[in-house]
Amino acid sequence: MYCSASTIDAAHLALATQVGTEIADRGWQLVSGGGRVAMMGAVATAARAGGAHTIGVIPRHLVHREVADIHVDELLVTDTMRERKQIMADRADAFLTLPGGIGTLEEFLEIWTGADLGMHDKPVVVLDPYGHYRGLFQWIRELQTLGFIGKAALERMTMAASVPDAFAALRTSS
Ligand code: AMP
Repeated sequence: MYCSASTIDAAHLALATQVGTEIADRGWQLVSGGGRVAMMGAVATAARAGGAHTIGVIPRHLVHREVADIHVDELLVTDTMRERKQIMADRADAFLTLPGGIGTLEEFLEIWTGADLGMHDKPVVVLDPYGHYRGLFQWIRELQTLGFIGKAALERMTMAASVPDAFAALRTSS
């Protein structure tokens, strides 16, 4: 799960809570950034409340800033951000990106790029019910038209506007 560690907007927290509940309802585990704040915290809290096993991976220097989730089932504290990303990528069976800022964008673009380059074959899904990423995806389509992004890259990622569509795509092995 990649999502905001900043916003406390009610609609986005509700989305995060819904996603956490859906993860638990499916008997899935959550791998997230290990923070207790904002959407990241809301997903983990809801997943855990539903009985899901939650795994949080957080770099040591962010333990205070992102308020490490001490209730997580497995809290992995890494020395570096690179280690965090590697562990999250290794432990996850699929990647879901919710609305977020530059941290989320960075994580999503790296995991999508990795999929396009054949570095992993796990589903890459963006859930965007409110048009948070409208500008980004409009630009990405323009880049495809101009020949900077291949059709195969776009096909390697799913943009979902609803929670059921996102979970259907997460289940689909590429
Ligand atoms: P943001 O979308 O900016 O609210 O950040 C969401 C999460 O991404 C936070 O947990 C950040 O610590 C994390 N983050 C920021 N930069 C990176 C990065 N380079 N690699 C992995 N995670 C990051």
